[in-house]
Amino acid sequence: MFLEPILRNNPRVIKVFTGIWAEDFWLMIDQMETNFYEILRVANLKKKYMFTENILVEAHKHSFNNQKELLESDLCGCFHCLSIYSPDKIDGWLNENDVDNDIGFTALC
Ligand SMILES: [Zn+2]
Repeated sequence: MFLEPILRNNPRVIKVFTGIWAEDFWLMIDQMETNFYEILRVANLKKKYMFTENILVEAHKHSFNNQKELLESDLCGCFHCLSIYSPDKIDGWLNENDVDNDIGFTALC
């Protein structure tokens, strides 16, 4: 097994064993490391923002009869197209007006 310092000091060993020039080899290694850390970064982001079933169930409760709540919010999101935008960009409202059951307007995107 060759350790990096040995390879750095003996670039011809790289050429003999890999068939590519040491300079190209180290560029390839740098690129692989960059990709590796990018993959780790994305994986950690996914873990950080992973939604539990409870979060999704709670979020669903805000997906209808939501006009008052949305108009008091700075941002809202759409389950259908996954866009996040200002509530003043909402295309329209579905009128499910049912005073007896406290159902009002639901945002449409
Ligand atoms: Zn949408």
